[in-house]
Amino acid sequence: MNIIRDVQKMKEYSLELRLRRETIGFVPTMGYLHRGHLELVKRALAENDVTVVSIFVNPTQFGPGEDFDTYPRDEARDLQLLEELGVDCVFVPSEHEIYPEGYSTYVHVERLTDYLCGAKRPGHFRGVATVVTKLFNIVSPEKAYFGQKDAQQFRVLRRMVLDLNMSVTMVEIPTVREEDGLAMSSRNRYLSKSERKEALLIREALDRGLQMIKEGTYSVSEIRDELGRILRKGKHVFVDYIEIVDEKNLNPVERLDNDVILAIAVFVGKTRLIDNEVIRVRE
Ligand code: AMP
Repeated sequence: MNIIRDVQKMKEYSLELRLRRETIGFVPTMGYLHRGHLELVKRALAENDVTVVSIFVNPTQFGPGEDFDTYPRDEARDLQLLEELGVDCVFVPSEHEIYPEGYSTYVHVERLTDYLCGAKRPGHFRGVATVVTKLFNIVSPEKAYFGQKDAQQFRVLRRMVLDLNMSVTMVEIPTVREEDGLAMSSRNRYLSKSERKEALLIREALDRGLQMIKEGTYSVSEIRDELGRILRKGKHVFVDYIEIVDEKNLNPVERLDNDVILAIAVFVGKTRLIDNEVIRVRE
């Protein structure tokens, strides 16, 4: 497995592949890999000649007071997991490599970033869109793989790719969960035993939301109230948002007429967790 730490070398590697007409599948990550990440990697391996994974904890997508400094990191383990899967190349740039002195350019996607995590984490998607643009320019993938767990991120980046005429096909992969239903996340490792138990209320709330919609409850406020009640059963759970938004433009909806995303963000203790279900109302 090729491990590349510098931008120039990565660009040369992908240029060579492109000259040979080999397709590149790309999985951007912040490392501390779990089965969710590995599912994206497996899809990339199955669909492309060469698979590149990046590991970069991107400082510009963390707000002040967020967990950039404490974000879990274990490069040796990550590299081992990727090698075992048969990944061709891992790009592991330093912060200085991506944001050298004098760095001044940022990508802002309007509207889609006004809601959900965009509203709660100002600047977050500006950091995400910027780093993904840079990674796409460096790696030049044909296809890039993202998880549905970060449904807003996927929609923001898909918009960016369309608007900026980037030649990347965006692929969204369903959320991978622990056996008990908790969405896999690098941040789950922050949870104490009792917090880990209470984090399951997110799954319970999503299930209840799905059930209410299936049974014909079309009032969004009724669903939000009920889900809020479930989440607040947790002593350490603080609701950041419970939203039902249009699946495509992420506008909050009042009635369930189109496909929607039921999205939840909570703090369990100090750990911020998100999860969602895409609900096909039109089926
Ligand atoms: P991260 O390292 O958290 O930035 O995530 C890197 C990629 O993995 C993103 O596209 C995430 O949406 C995706 N991802 C994270 N957790 C999961 C999961 N449980 N299931 C599927 N994809 C995931």
